[in-house]
Amino acid sequence: MAVDAPFEPDVQQEQAARLNAQKSAAATAAAAESGTVILKIRRYNPEVDDEPHWERYEVPTEPGDRLLDSLHHIKWQMDGSLTFRRSCAHGVCGSDAMRVNGVNRLACKILIKDLGDEVMIEPIKGLPVEKDLLVDMEPFFEAFRAVQPWLITEGNEPTRERLQSAEDRARFDDTTKCIMCAACTTSCPVFWNDGSYFGPAAIVAAHRFIFDSRDAGAEERLEILNDREGVWRCRTTFNCTDACPRGIQITKAIQEVKRALVFRRI
Ligand code: SF4
Repeated sequence: MAVDAPFEPDVQQEQAARLNAQKSAAATAAAAESGTVILKIRRYNPEVDDEPHWERYEVPTEPGDRLLDSLHHIKWQMDGSLTFRRSCAHGVCGSDAMRVNGVNRLACKILIKDLGDEVMIEPIKGLPVEKDLLVDMEPFFEAFRAVQPWLITEGNEPTRERLQSAEDRARFDDTTKCIMCAACTTSCPVFWNDGSYFGPAAIVAAHRFIFDSRDAGAEERLEILNDREGVWRCRTTFNCTDACPRGIQITKAIQEVKRALVFRRI
């Protein structure tokens, strides 16, 4: 004889209803937080402008928007002539460094909601401006190449990988994180006044190899940085360390290179 099953609430239905309620509450909260932000952008088009000037845009925002999203909104919805550089958009390629409220930042790494109601955006300082927020990075890369940022070895090629202890690897771990965004070099007052200074990023690149136990080019690199435009120009202002989106202890790295030069000991 068939027996009716005892009544049980439909657990799945209840879970789905709870999830929908949560989603709807989150959507309501997000809508309540949506708003607009004023972006004041330093514009310059060498084909028509004698001088740079400021332009003002009122941009709709969502709570999770990053500065890069707002720049995309302007570019795609309001003013296609706005020019800036970006690539990965996730803090890895280092393309979208710019000066935001007077401080160098990556546009893809900062939330609009953390920047206030009005945001001033300028190109990074000390490099030639090509258009709007786009600068010529060649002087920056030239300094980078000058310190020979590659492994220099002696003797015959080994038949197996070049081994290194964890302790030796740790000596330059911090400086391997550089993404060459130029935020450090273009926040340095010495570089602003003298574009011939190698700058913090090039010294970071040199540090990464000088302290590598497998490298044989440390002396050569130290001599390059012993130049009048080299490591001694650093005035330890810490701007570079504050600007670095990778959290690299740049001033400490520069001090380590100075010490290696003084004591001639790696
Ligand atoms: S050291 Fe930091 S701020 Fe400088 S180029 Fe590398 S990642 Fe950018």
